[in-house]
Amino acid sequence: MRKSEDEPLAICGARSKRTGNPCRQPPMKNGRCRLHGGKSTGPKTKEGLLRSKRANWKHGMYSVEFRQQKEELRKYYEEALELMNKLK
Ligand SMILES: [Zn+2]
Repeated sequence: MRKSEDEPLAICGARSKRTGNPCRQPPMKNGRCRLHGGKSTGPKTKEGLLRSKRANWKHGMYSVEFRQQKEELRKYYEEALELMNKLK
């Protein structure tokens, strides 16, 4: 049983490259231990934030922009189909 709120039950949990086990160090404020970015306060500047977002960016298939583009393409496609049907 936990005694109080200031005794965190949590662990850092960063996965080890070698063993694959989660890190069991006590976490710092941001949830990671001192070896795994616990001291980091994260990106501060606008550019830094953007870079951080982009760092693990795959393809943007679910981004708002892309979905809008898909929607527009679909409309064009339907219009084209209609036209084809009229021409028959
Ligand atoms: Zn850790």
